[in-house]
Amino acid sequence: MDINTRIVHAGIDRDPATGASSVPLYQASTYSQNDPERHGRYDYVRSGNPTREALEKALAELEGGAAGLAFASGMAATSSALLLFRPGDHLVVGRDVYGGTFRVLDRLFSRWGLRTTFVDTTDAANIRAAVEPATRAIFIETPSNPFLRITDLAATAAIARERGLLTIADGTFTTPYLQRPLEHGFDLVVHSATKFLNGHSDLLAGAVVARGAELGDRLKFIQNAFGAVLGVQDSWLLLRGLKTLAARLETGQKTAHWLAERLAALPEVKKVHYPGLPGHPGREIHARQASGGGAVLSFELAEEGMTMEFLRRLRLPLLAVSLGGVETIVTHPATMSHASMPPEERELRGISEGLVRMSVGLESGEDLLTDILQAFREAGRKRG
Ligand SMILES: *Cc1c(COP(=O)(O)O)cnc(C)c1O
Repeated sequence: MDINTRIVHAGIDRDPATGASSVPLYQASTYSQNDPERHGRYDYVRSGNPTREALEKALAELEGGAAGLAFASGMAATSSALLLFRPGDHLVVGRDVYGGTFRVLDRLFSRWGLRTTFVDTTDAANIRAAVEPATRAIFIETPSNPFLRITDLAATAAIARERGLLTIADGTFTTPYLQRPLEHGFDLVVHSATKFLNGHSDLLAGAVVARGAELGDRLKFIQNAFGAVLGVQDSWLLLRGLKTLAARLETGQKTAHWLAERLAALPEVKKVHYPGLPGHPGREIHARQASGGGAVLSFELAEEGMTMEFLRRLRLPLLAVSLGGVETIVTHPATMSHASMPPEERELRGISEGLVRMSVGLESGEDLLTDILQAFREAGRKRG
């Protein structure tokens, strides 16, 4: 069935016992056993909970994987997936992966003997060149943050197959509505469900979906052993948010595309980064592996010195970290999403003071543009 239909009915779409339109919230930490010699399907909430399982089943179905696992945050999901590896292992990771992913690899997992080489994965030759005998996996994000750079999923999976490596994609920006990496040969998808999957900027959650059952079992073991599971209430809320994913992302990306075109024509804007725009590097690859440009864009101001005043003058969007909410969220990568990155790493990635990222919500595009135009006007006036 079509992804629109699957998003609404994925997993357990009604309560089998009562027909209730939502899965009940099983707010319990333990389960009474009927038979002391034969324990039932559930024993303790960290190991299993029907509400969380309904969510996990839905996520697995939408990504086309054998197993889905819900975690307390996107970073808990990514970190738990990284526990598949051991000291001495080496990873090839996209140079512009999420700042927190960079940080956990650079500052934490490095201390436990997991080595990482960060490369520009938009060119498959860079991935190939970075593979060592100890390499175990390739970890990418496409489109990446904040430049929406495109990595070829099928080409990356082909290199991994050749060298016997695991492939992991961070699917936060696209969600299974737009792109399903497992269909392109990837082994794992990780998500910050805090963003588009939930969509309402009101919870923190993460997910991992595995293509194969064996890998799914190993991750299930890690989920239970390490313990960074998603709470029951947030599982229920996320299931609720997930149902409107297609409608939210469709509207957001339509407005994002329209705004990207308008912004590109403004004298105050030097460059717009959006995978749906003609001339965006990797646009054809993206069109082949995803069904739309998504709802995130970024742009560079012609005058860097105007950035802070421009951001100060915006009235409609939230000026905040995070993305994927029903409300438009504007981020200043240099001081917000990528602030945890050392300045020289930021420079290497081209993240300048004049770069602004916008996650487009469900407001009217005209209203957003009007607000952007008045912010430019006011910032220009202030500057004289
Ligand atoms: C936010 C984000 C994460 C981290 O997720 P949390 O839910 O904040 O822990 C990982 N990857 C991407 C692409 C993100 O945007």
